[in-house]
Amino acid sequence: MTLHSGHLPVLELNAEDYEYEMSDYEGARARWCPGCGDHSILTAVQRLLAAEQLAPENTVFVSGIGCSSRLPHYLKTYGFHGIHGRALPIATGIRLHRPDLTVFVVMGDGDCTSIGAGHWVHAMRYNLDLVVMLLDNGIYGLTKQQTSPTTPQGFRSNTQPRGSWLPPLNPLQIALGVTNASFVAQTAEWVPAHLYATLRAARQHRGLSFVRILQRCPIYSSAVYLEAVQHPANIAMLVHDDGVVVHELDKIYTNQVAHDPHDLDAARRIAGATDRVNLGVLFRDGSKPRYEETRRVPPRTQAERVALIDAELDRYAI
Ligand code: SF4
Repeated sequence: MTLHSGHLPVLELNAEDYEYEMSDYEGARARWCPGCGDHSILTAVQRLLAAEQLAPENTVFVSGIGCSSRLPHYLKTYGFHGIHGRALPIATGIRLHRPDLTVFVVMGDGDCTSIGAGHWVHAMRYNLDLVVMLLDNGIYGLTKQQTSPTTPQGFRSNTQPRGSWLPPLNPLQIALGVTNASFVAQTAEWVPAHLYATLRAARQHRGLSFVRILQRCPIYSSAVYLEAVQHPANIAMLVHDDGVVVHELDKIYTNQVAHDPHDLDAARRIAGATDRVNLGVLFRDGSKPRYEETRRVPPRTQAERVALIDAELDRYAI
């Protein structure tokens, strides 16, 4: 496009030449607590958006309710701050009717694995092209330290002051147990290079990419990941050419475990491990059927949409 303005110099604008920078995705100033792991995740997401050159006007972040679900406010993309546990149905609707958009979903552990658990399981089976991030801090933070499904057994909270009664739910095992699951990974916000590489792999996967991000809440569940944060020996990096390999971390995380992410049985064994924290792509299979390929309403032109609306209104004509 060329703008002429009297005798002023001609300004050439060409949207296709524009290169997005991280700052192009910065929204409102983040209001999470100082030290909250969500800050690191927001930075990784902005870095991913710039690396993938995703146009803000063609990108949507959908969230539920919780501290983590504030993330769309802090991005200059489209956003939908939904209701508790319902981020995935909203994202499904967006994905089916606007397949031209890139859709991300952000949920907390209380949001996804409790009230939203039914939607989570079926969204995994539908395998729509979505990047789904579970920001797991093992507590309900926004409502001031209530036990969530992923709270470790014995952890004291305001709702279970004598300690959580039950063993925690394992999101990786559930995700890997769902028929038609196509991408399951785990990363941690305190390992930003791995976090970014994992999100990038998730974004490049076709189908639903489920990424559990271990996230520290220094206010209400600071002890949950303390051992893994302070002692890298407690972490194992799953490495494979089809997974995530971050060589700059090799000297810190010396436990490197070769794992083929196409091996579902091995992925399930790793997901159940309790002796260490495994980070990496546990499973991926890009050949799994995607719901939008079989059921999506074909895109219509504006004229066709108007004709459809007219026809619908005519049904009520007297
Ligand atoms: Fe983050 Fe915890 Fe503060 Fe929520 S309460 S913003 S999860 S540190």
